Amino acid sequence: MQPTQENEADALKQILCGASVTHLPKPSFRFLLVDDEPRLLQSLYEMLDNRGYELIRANSGEAAVNELLRLRFDIVLLDLRLPGMSGHEVMDFIKTRGLDCHTIVLSGNTEIDAAIGALKRGAYDFLRKPYAPEELLKIIANALQERELARENQRIAAQLESSERLYRYLVDSSPDIIYTLDQAGRFTFLNQRATTLLGYDRDELLGRHYSEIVFEEDLERALYVFNERRVGERATRNVELRLKCVTGKDDTRHFDNALMTIAFNSDGIYLADAAVTKREYYGTYGVARDITDRKRAEEQVAYQAYHDVLTDLPNRALFRDRLELAIMQARRNARTLAVMFVDLDRFKIVNDSLGHVTGDLLLQEVAARLKLCLRQSDTLARHGGDEFTLVLPEIADGEDAEHVAGKILESLSRPFDLNGHEVFLSGSIGIALYPEHGSTGEQLVRHADIAMYRVKRAGKNGVQFFTQEMFKDVHYRATLEKDLRKAIDNNELEVYFQPQFDVFTNRIIGAEGLMRWHHPSRGLLTPGEFLPLAEENGLILQLSEWLLESVCTTLKTWDAAGKERLKISINVSPQHLDRGIFCEAMFDALKRHRIMPQRIEVEITENICIGNPQQTVEQLHRLHAMGVSTAIDDFGTGYSSLAYLHRFPVDTIKIDQSFVREIARENGHYPVVLAIISIARGLKLNLVAEGVETEAQCNYLKAHGCSVMQGFHFSPAISSSEFLTLLAPREKKLAR
Ligand code: C2E
Ligand code: CA
Ligand code: CA
Repeated sequence: MQPTQENEADALKQILCGASVTHLPKPSFRFLLVDDEPRLLQSLYEMLDNRGYELIRANSGEAAVNELLRLRFDIVLLDLRLPGMSGHEVMDFIKTRGLDCHTIVLSGNTEIDAAIGALKRGAYDFLRKPYAPEELLKIIANALQERELARENQRIAAQLESSERLYRYLVDSSPDIIYTLDQAGRFTFLNQRATTLLGYDRDELLGRHYSEIVFEEDLERALYVFNERRVGERATRNVELRLKCVTGKDDTRHFDNALMTIAFNSDGIYLADAAVTKREYYGTYGVARDITDRKRAEEQVAYQAYHDVLTDLPNRALFRDRLELAIMQARRNARTLAVMFVDLDRFKIVNDSLGHVTGDLLLQEVAARLKLCLRQSDTLARHGGDEFTLVLPEIADGEDAEHVAGKILESLSRPFDLNGHEVFLSGSIGIALYPEHGSTGEQLVRHADIAMYRVKRAGKNGVQFFTQEMFKDVHYRATLEKDLRKAIDNNELEVYFQPQFDVFTNRIIGAEGLMRWHHPSRGLLTPGEFLPLAEENGLILQLSEWLLESVCTTLKTWDAAGKERLKISINVSPQHLDRGIFCEAMFDALKRHRIMPQRIEVEITENICIGNPQQTVEQLHRLHAMGVSTAIDDFGTGYSSLAYLHRFPVDTIKIDQSFVREIARENGHYPVVLAIISIARGLKLNLVAEGVETEAQCNYLKAHGCSVMQGFHFSPAISSSEFLTLLAPREKKLAR
């Protein structure tokens, strides 16, 4: 039976009142004295009077029966020989009526069968007249004690029943499902709540396995949880499971399960002296709380935080998440992915002329059409206003992306019907590919955006891939140049450090300093996005000097943190070397900061040597004399022959990323890489492999004797403080 609110309240009231059972006042006893001889009756009365008993007298069998009908008696003192109705008949009456009293027979009758007849009829005792009063009083005392005991037992039974009711009530009206499972995982107990929440009949579930009501996808988790047979504090855990319901459309609910495993000591129970040795698994006791409403609210909040209300598409935040994930996968599998920036042409005109409501409708229609052009794995997001971004993780090359872009333009070109208004639209699309056009999500989106702007300016309705040359865009450059002039003063520049890792010793042995610009509106810019500009307008000299200062300060910070004395390599601008002032600047910085020249390595590219070899060679020799070492960056990509390796004091060569990227299989054959490794060995130069992104590349290089590596496989370039924490755990080991 389902507990209604009313009878629940009743139950509670009863239970609370039931508590008074324990505090009943001590009862008094009532006696019925039966004798036809007035003298005897009187003496009996006098004997018992003043003892706190209630005494009622009857002088015949009939009178006795009348009293018995009227009142409840504890003790009946009964004479057997009565005129009319006999004592035996009175006892028969008591017996057939099932009256609860102790009958003590007092009789002058000496016949043995009179006594037997009385005892057979349930007399408590038989006393022959005349009797000694003490004897009677003793029998009465015994009878009363017996009655008191019986009453006490009754009281305890009532109390037990009421506390059992109390617990049952508490368990059944608990807001949580309370249950027990046997060793095999079958329900052995369920409270009423299981019925109201899940809709099953309680009896229907008893004996059934829990897995029958756990949502399929959660079964594995459930199995893990219910199989844990630990006891005590460690056994309590909260696990969220979904349970199947039989109530209407709402057919799964979420439950937070707090479980305890019950164990009992089977050896200790019967054998008083047996040592407690074995704990036997007995079953599971659990409490499941319905958290469906909370889950739904959470899901809704999460959904709203990551989706655009108007189009129901992922928003910027979710897009960034998905993009980072896609980049990670593309990197791992050495694959290409495309980021697209789609901007609607003429949207503003529609919005202004037909109103916001129609504008909103158009955006919804556009979102629906764009979705039709995509695959399941693609992510389409609303970037804001009339801008959409896309990530296509499963493309073979740029052509695939171009094909999708073509489909999008085609779908946008068909007229839109907005409440009877026919509207024509087109779109401008910019595409950036990973890894060709950028290695981070932020970069790819920004570059796709730049490409999209190029389309706009070229007359809209088209597609463009990003190219480096777009940075030369006059407008873009004009504002960037203005910003760059203020960047140093505004503290917007920062040096990031990419660890160089020795795979044989598993240690970080150095770092390359790479410049970053926290642009106030464009986000984090990489050197490729502003250094070419700085090279052209001469700001590079200021930036280089700032970099030197910054690297020296960082070295000092790291030293102060008690880290091993690492070496930092820095990239030198050709201009700086050309001017013949680089050495001076370096010398000055090292002196001011009291830094050993051996802590610094400068990286130059092969091409540097073409411009002004004389000046450059001289600078490099002076650096070398000072103790600063030199590395040839991007080795193998330049114009120079091996000859310069003899003319310059070179210490290190860095295998360019483009060669490392070629390494697809660990047991493949990559002759250029092998040639560079053997050059380094032949000339006894240090070797660093750059751009190592995969396990296969790492293993190939290692197998051929190249031990120092740099690349995303280990770590991207990170801030100085992040670098310190990378050094911290277990000293200099990369968390890989
Ligand atoms: P670089 O000297 O060849 O530096 C290595 C570049 O490769 C860095 O890009 C680094 O972030 C990136 N990289 C590192 N590991 C991987 C990887 O596993 N995969 C891929 N795809 N890339 C990886 P970043 O920081 O954008 O620097 C670009 C270039 O800008 C540098 O190339 C360097 O020539 C120049 N540069 C950076 N900082 C400075 C500087 O302070 N002064 C000067 N003059 N040039 C700098
Ligand atoms: Ca470099
Ligand atoms: Ca390089």
